[in-house]
Formats: sequence, C-alpha cells, structure tokens
Amino acid sequence: MNSYWEEERKNHDLFEEIKEDKKVSVCIIGGGLTGLQTAYNLSDKLDVVILEKDRICGSTSGKTTGKITSQHGVFYDYLINSQSKEFAKMYLEANEKAIQNIKDIIEKEEIECDLEEESSYVFTKQETKLDMIKNEQKAVDKLQKEKSDYVKEIELPTEISGAIEFKNQAQFHPLKYAYGLAKAIIKNDGKIYENTKVTDIKRENEKYVVYANKNKVIADYVVLATRYPIMNVPGYYFLKMYQSTSYAMVFDAKKKLFDGMYISYETPNVSFRTIRDGDRELLLAVGYDYKTGTEELRDGYQRLEVIVRKMYPDAEVLYKWTAEDCISLDKIPYIGQYSSIMKNLYIATGFNKWGVTSSNVAANIITDKILQKENKYEEIFKSTRIEPIKNRQEMGDMLKEANKSILLSRFKIPKEELDNIKIGEGKIIKIDNTKVGVYKSKTGEIYKVKPICTHLGCELYFNNIEKIWECPCHGSKFTYDGKSIEVPSNKDLKTF
Ligand SMILES: Cc1cc2nc3c(=O)[nH]c(=O)nc-3n(C[C@H](O)[C@H](O)[C@H](O)COP(=O)(O)OP(=O)(O)OC[C@H]3O[C@@H](n4cnc5c(N)ncnc54)[C@H](O)[C@@H]3O)c2cc1C
Repeated sequence: MNSYWEEERKNHDLFEEIKEDKKVSVCIIGGGLTGLQTAYNLSDKLDVVILEKDRICGSTSGKTTGKITSQHGVFYDYLINSQSKEFAKMYLEANEKAIQNIKDIIEKEEIECDLEEESSYVFTKQETKLDMIKNEQKAVDKLQKEKSDYVKEIELPTEISGAIEFKNQAQFHPLKYAYGLAKAIIKNDGKIYENTKVTDIKRENEKYVVYANKNKVIADYVVLATRYPIMNVPGYYFLKMYQSTSYAMVFDAKKKLFDGMYISYETPNVSFRTIRDGDRELLLAVGYDYKTGTEELRDGYQRLEVIVRKMYPDAEVLYKWTAEDCISLDKIPYIGQYSSIMKNLYIATGFNKWGVTSSNVAANIITDKILQKENKYEEIFKSTRIEPIKNRQEMGDMLKEANKSILLSRFKIPKEELDNIKIGEGKIIKIDNTKVGVYKSKTGEIYKVKPICTHLGCELYFNNIEKIWECPCHGSKFTYDGKSIEVPSNKDLKTF
C-alpha cells in the first residue's frame, strides 16, 4: 500500500536501473534516508553510487511519520540508568545536531519539503504513568537545561494527565526531502540506480564486488543502508534485532487541527502530526505496532479510526498503510563498521522507529569513517558492540519467538485442506507431506509458496489483512505469490 508521501513520485522521473559494470569509491546499497544522506555527504568528495532495489524511499523512509525529533519516546531516563549520564547526553546531543543538520541541508539545497518547526510531546492519559513522565523530564533537564518542560495541557483534543514537551523540533515531507537530496547528489555527479537489487557482496583484492541486476560494482567502500542488513554473517545482527510493524492513516479531520507533534506513552502507542496539503491540513495518525509475523494487533486500522473519531467525529480516511522498522535489543542504533573483520563495509540499522534523526547521525558517522575523520558520537552507536545486551527480557522473547517458529515448522501439522481455505485467505496446509503456504485470491486463483523464510528458515505467518507472508523471527515480508518485499530476506520464496 502506498503512503500519502509517495504521491510525490508523480512529480519525479524514475532513475534508470544499472546496465553496466562500474568502478566507484563508495557503493551505497539502499536509497532510503540513510543511503541518500550518506551519498549526499560524500558525493562532492568521492565517486558515489546508490543501488536501490525499488524506488528511492520505497520502504520505511517513504512511510514514516516524518517527525524530526530527539524526543525518542520516554527514553533518556532509561539511557541514564542502562548506560550513563554521559552516554545519554551524547545521544541527545547527536540527535539535536541531526535536527540542525537536516535544517541546514534543506536551507543550503533549497529543498521545498514543508519543513515546520514544532514542539514534540509525549503524553499520558494515566495518572499511574505520570511519575515516569516527570522522571523523564527531570532526566532530560540533567542532560540539557531548558530542552524540555513538563506540561499539563496540550493542543491535541484529548484529555491527558501530563506530558513532556521538547522545544525546537520539526516535521517535514520525507519524500520531498528525499528528492531534494537526490537532486543534490546528481548535481555532485553521484549516481542513483532504481529497480536495482543487490544479490551478493564479495571481498576480492582489497575491494568489494557488489552484484546487482547481472552487473558488478567494484567499490573501495560499501554502505549497507538497507535498514535490515542483507548479509547475515559475520555481523549476526539477526541475533540483536527484530522488526516491528505500525499502522498509519491520513484523515481529513474536517476541523481545525493543532500545533505540535504528539505521541502517547501508553503501549502500544499512537503518534499524531499534521500535514500541510495545499490549502488544507490533514491529520496523520500512526501506531498500534506489533512484532512483525505475530498474531498481535491485526485490527490496528480500526483502532486508529476509533481513537481519531473520538477527537474528530467527522474525520474521513484518505490513506492507510503499514511500515516496519528494526528494533535493537538495547534500543540504541547500530552505526559503523559492519563487522570488526570486514574493513570498509559499513552499516546503519536498529533505529527503533526514530530513524529520521538517527539516519542523519549515521550518515555523518559513516562519512567521517570513510573520510578518516574523528566523530565524537561514533563510540555510543558502535555497531560491533557485543556487550551489553542489557535488555535480557526482549532478547529472551525474541529467541523464544524464533524457536517457536522453527519448532512449529517441524512439529505442527495443520489439518486444513485446500478446499477449506476461504476466498481472500492464506494459510499453511500439508500436501503430500510437504508444507505449502496457500493463498486463495478474491477471484479464486490459488497461489502456492514454500512458507519458509529465505533469510534463516523460519516458518512464515500469513497476514490476512495485507495478504502478505511475514516472518516472525526477523520481519521479512513477501507478497502472497512469494516475491520478497522487505529485508532481511533478499530472495523470493520457492513456489509450487
Ligand atoms: C510507521 C513508522 C513511523 C516512523 N516515524 C518516524 C518519525 O516520525 N521520526 C523518526 O525519526 N523516525 C520514524 N520512523 C523510523 C524511520 O522512518 C526509519 O528508521 C528510517 O526511515 C529508516 O531509513 P533507512 O534508510 O535506514 O531504511 P529504509 O527507508 O527502509 O531504506 C532501505 C532501502 O534499502 C532498499 N533495499 C533493501 N534491500 C535491498 C537490496 N538487496 N538491494 C538494493 N536495495 C535494497 C529498500 O528498498 C529501501 O529503499 C518511523 C518508522 C515507522 C515504521
């Protein structure tokens, strides 16, 4: 499902796909915000290409909420407790700098991307959670005086118990920003290839050979900006992350909206912002996330509608979509070298749904690494950290889910027969001792796939709302007929 932001593509031509072998300094795999900002930083200094399997921002960056903020939920109290005050201070500073850096790029490149300065708020409706909000505000105050305020009232028309406000944050149109970056990259003689899927990366003679669309790109440096790394080893990021999907809806509220950007502290949370759409203002609501590939919260759209209609009873739904992001177990992104034994290969992942600023932080760290400059934030996001997995509960849950899926594929034998599958439904059945993922389309066609993820072999789950196969282990997604649509899987499913 396309997002509201993706309407912007109508104003831009497709970048051609790669058709010849190339030799470059830097090959960036993935044209989301991470890939584009890294290419932007480097394209006036080095020879850079972006290889994008779909369209630029065809995945999460084109489906984001587009808040540019260092307020990553209620987070800084956790960071101080799990890391240190100095660490939390650096994290805040890095993300505040990213906000300024994005603003500077927009100004320098004259990108018209509906940038609006706003305050950002986390609010709670529950008195019992008020202490957490107050603690967070005190924690932020220790890191940067006058960054935040504790407030009792907000403009969002809903009753709250309290909120924490971050001042001088912003929101934008992510696709307009992305196309502005792309224009600047091309101006600097960088190259962007769309519909160019990378299928392999090899190390040969101190260089990397990147295989895409039957062509080779030979590069000194490679940046894996695919959100979830498309290589499993030796990075082992699949042991340190999972993916979470959120629902998003755009409404015409038929009423004057609010200033500010909001997110609730409740679990699952809901996030709100306005969108300037010509003469009118629209409401974007995002939330009700679930771990990709699990049965939780399949009614996210209905829930979002209910919550918005409580505030705006006449609201009309204009767009809806879902999107996922990588969640790192210690809630801190992984940025830097992909593995300590693979020189000049870089990674940026685990943005925990706060990748608008984190992708900018990542682009700057990776740029400095390639240009052999110091970056004071490198250490706190260090991608090769192995210790500590502070969040043992999440680690346990993730491994349990992965084991369950692998065990399910070995021992649970579904009894359903092909004929019992309803129109528009998908499920796993057993035919001649082989498990088959079957989807029956609205017109009755049957699509059969091997329901085993091509990433690491977990059994897939059929999402009957979106009609796609999802992996509960690491969040890969496939169309009902088996085409790989979301990383980490990079290969289509086998079909029968
Ligand atoms: C619903 C939702 C709302 C969010 N809202 C916010 C927000 O308000 N503020 C905020 O800070 N963050 C937000 N985030 C997080 C943020 O949007 C993401 O972290 C960020 O966009 C990730 O950017 P990326 O470039 O790393 O990944 P992506 O945008 O996913 O880009 C990766 C690219 O790699 C390409 N690719 C994958 N495999 C290959 C291959 N084999 N060959 C070539 N290309 C490949 C993909 O097609 C894709 O275009 C949100 C996330 C979600 C899910």
